[in-house]
Amino acid sequence: MATRMHRAHRVAGALVGSAVGDALGAPFEFGPPGRFSARFPSPARGARTEMCGGGPWEPGEFTDDTQMALLVASSLVDRDGLDEADLFDRFRAWAEADPKDVGIQTRAVLGSGQPWDVAATEHFRRTGRAAGNGSLMRTTPAAIRFSRDGRDVTMDAARRISALTHGDPSTGEGCAIFHELMRVALDGGDPLAAIPSALEACADEHRDRWATVLAPEWTPADVTESNGAVWPTLGQAVWALRNGRDFADVMRLVIDLGGDTDTVAAVAGGLAGAVFGMGGIPSRWASAVHGRVPGHGEKVWRLADLQQLATALDGGVQQNYDPGVIPRIGPTEVLPGIWAGNLDGARHSDEDFAVISLCRLGEPFPHQVHRMAYIADNDHNADLDVMLADVLDDMKALHDEGLRLLVHCHGGASRTGLVLRGWLVREKGMSVEEATAHVAERWPHLGLWNDSFTAALERLAARSDDEGQR
Ligand SMILES: [Mg+2]
Repeated sequence: MATRMHRAHRVAGALVGSAVGDALGAPFEFGPPGRFSARFPSPARGARTEMCGGGPWEPGEFTDDTQMALLVASSLVDRDGLDEADLFDRFRAWAEADPKDVGIQTRAVLGSGQPWDVAATEHFRRTGRAAGNGSLMRTTPAAIRFSRDGRDVTMDAARRISALTHGDPSTGEGCAIFHELMRVALDGGDPLAAIPSALEACADEHRDRWATVLAPEWTPADVTESNGAVWPTLGQAVWALRNGRDFADVMRLVIDLGGDTDTVAAVAGGLAGAVFGMGGIPSRWASAVHGRVPGHGEKVWRLADLQQLATALDGGVQQNYDPGVIPRIGPTEVLPGIWAGNLDGARHSDEDFAVISLCRLGEPFPHQVHRMAYIADNDHNADLDVMLADVLDDMKALHDEGLRLLVHCHGGASRTGLVLRGWLVREKGMSVEEATAHVAERWPHLGLWNDSFTAALERLAARSDDEGQR
């Protein structure tokens, strides 16, 4: 079934995955190991998810890791490449705007009053301490931006950006290795298989220490310093990628390690997002991620903004999506407790609906419970089975909590129909034919032009049968 995943899904997955990891790990920062699984022994798909917030952070709010990453991203896009002085200015304006969290080393360097090309080296010379993970945590956008330029160029860019705040060259080597693994992953390759060649390009005096934490036999139990340091951060992220079944599993593994959970999960989330793609990131997490960048306007960054930015970083055109005004359809109750509509029908619906969006939206919706899972209205969805199962699982949990569900896409026809039919196949045990007839009778807008949707429903029916017999 696998359509080869389009690069755009990996690029978006990397940027969104990193922000998701940051927001997901933030409430568990500096906690003991195992706390995530203790609090969430099974997937939390209802109105309250694992994006629980805590400390100064709202549920789904990303932290300084992503704030700095967005500064890197905007500088790279605006300056069309690496302009270190510009980036350092942006960092400094951000640090002066009193963000909720700033790394100790980053704060010291940015607040030193020294120019960009000496501040970090000067700090390192004076203190001898600079091997924190604060430059690794923000490097996903640069890893995307330089991924098309080959191994040496992307590794060099990583070192230069790291050196703006982190004077210890070992941090630059860690960022350089991360960039190379990301380059390979975005190309559809296996980042774990790229470790030897990344180490080869690593500076001689740093190679052994990096080789140790990236070796297949290394585990977090072998750690020799806290994961606020750069080596265990990348080591743990790679270990989780090696051992996780899917994006969610990688996140659970790293956050359960405790310590600097937002940063380790941001690093792991970037790599895992590139490997599993946008469709592999649970929609309940991607839909919730958001935050501001202090010192850089009032804009609240959300999923759609991150996806557009990812496209721009990879050389595409960054344009705001405007769906225009379309005549409203719905919401109409098609199945018990489940309404359907088109884009504007959903946008203007009662705010107590739990909304499941399957298309791009333009302006965000006001609804409290809102899941966004973008499915293309054609036969080229790479992860249709995974996304459909994710949507249906969330719907089941929200439905069980007594919420009214509203499923919609742009026209309310084909994608909406896919999910309504999928619900009947999964929850009512109907055949695809029965489900299609059942929906068609109650929802005249049903569209059946995507053959791949019906094929996905047949696979869903076969899997549901298997599970029923077990
Ligand atoms: Mg943080």
